[in-house]
Amino acid sequence: MTMNKCASISYIFSSYIELTRTCHQSCGYCSFFKEDCPLLPIETLGQKLEDLSKRGATEVVFLSGESPQNFPHIQIALNKNGFSSYADYLLEACSMALEKNLMPVLEVGYLDSFTLERFTSAGCSIRINIVSAPLAGTGEALEKSRGRNPSTGRAAIEAMHANQIPYSIGFVIGIGESEEERLKLVADIGRFCTADPYLQDLRILPFQPTPGCSMRERPPLPFNAITRIVEKVREAFPVHHISLPPHLCYRFPELVEAGLNDLGSVPILTGDPVHEKFDVPSFETLKARLEKHNIQLYERDTLSTPAALNRPETFAAASSIRELIERRNLSKLNLIDNDHCFVCGSRNSGGLHIPVHDSIKGHTCSFTWAPGPVYQSYAGIVHGGILSTLMDEAMGYAVMGENSELVAVTADMHIRYLRPTPIGVPLTVAATLVGQRKNMYFARASIILPDGNVLAEAEGRFAEIKKPGELK
Ligand code: SF4
Repeated sequence: MTMNKCASISYIFSSYIELTRTCHQSCGYCSFFKEDCPLLPIETLGQKLEDLSKRGATEVVFLSGESPQNFPHIQIALNKNGFSSYADYLLEACSMALEKNLMPVLEVGYLDSFTLERFTSAGCSIRINIVSAPLAGTGEALEKSRGRNPSTGRAAIEAMHANQIPYSIGFVIGIGESEEERLKLVADIGRFCTADPYLQDLRILPFQPTPGCSMRERPPLPFNAITRIVEKVREAFPVHHISLPPHLCYRFPELVEAGLNDLGSVPILTGDPVHEKFDVPSFETLKARLEKHNIQLYERDTLSTPAALNRPETFAAASSIRELIERRNLSKLNLIDNDHCFVCGSRNSGGLHIPVHDSIKGHTCSFTWAPGPVYQSYAGIVHGGILSTLMDEAMGYAVMGENSELVAVTADMHIRYLRPTPIGVPLTVAATLVGQRKNMYFARASIILPDGNVLAEAEGRFAEIKKPGELK
């Protein structure tokens, strides 16, 4: 089925960082919380933010259990990191994210109203996940959760409004509530806050049974029930972004026809720690799948209402994020480093996992790697395509150099295979930048045995991409 008219759907180029899984709740549908989980040291957090910002994310979602500060090991860790409370730690995390032009989003359970006041000028958005039925009976989803029910959800929304904090509502569905309860909650919440200038978007969160959670035997909701709630949320919130995580429920164009217009925060770079078993599709995969149905994918930023966008705390970060998003939306070629590069990506299960980025000095790149038997062509000899790939990678990095803002792609390369390359022997792949004319960069590479014999050589031309998509 294809949409007759061209529809569009947005997404946020997001990333998730786990602060701690320690939680004082114990929701039956949750596979995230873990007793005694340590707190992420603030220094490590800084490194992660730096990396995510360099790789083009525009949003970071900080995940933690609720009130982890109630546990002694978290208190000790906070003190060690120089914080007297968990709120101080979160405020610092938000400020560090904004400095790196990442819009901070907190998904840390409910915060009490005294704590919440401190987040009015933190520049963050906060996620409130709500349920539609009390479900506190024996064996029910909220049996072991303290004070979680539809009224506490509504109170949390009121607190966001009172403190003028941008927020997003997540409807947790399929955890034992009836369809009537589910749809009624959506209608009630719609009447209550659809006109709230601090409400940014709505997320539909269908329960998925996962091995770690106590409700793992419960089947997920059928697709027609999901469609009905999408329709209801659209009716109750006619102008908002309404999303379903594409790694949890992917049925297009049906969802768009029901009223979905957003994929929400897609954690392309980090995966989703709350649903570890579900692979997050890459931007390219999503785009290609949606285009088949005549649905255009475009990027948006986290904040969407003027009340949230015009805040002084977020102004600088929001402006540069918007510029980046505009450039990417106009671009024909999106160069996103999602750590899946065949040669150097640590998240590509079929890749070579060579940490090439650690081998750059100035505009040279040199690393050593011993190809195993799976890379052979004739018996005992490395396949020429692998050698070409290694030299291409090394030249690309040599061109872009250390700490360089330059982004370049291979335009062409010429290879000479001089001798057969044996399997299992450590090979040094060395490349250097040798020249530049206008926006074209020239590099050379060779593959060398430990005794100094050269096995293959290459020369390549690399085209600089100044703005994403502009091959110059
Ligand atoms: S859903 Fe959130 S509040 Fe509930 S147990 Fe999991 S981490 Fe804690």
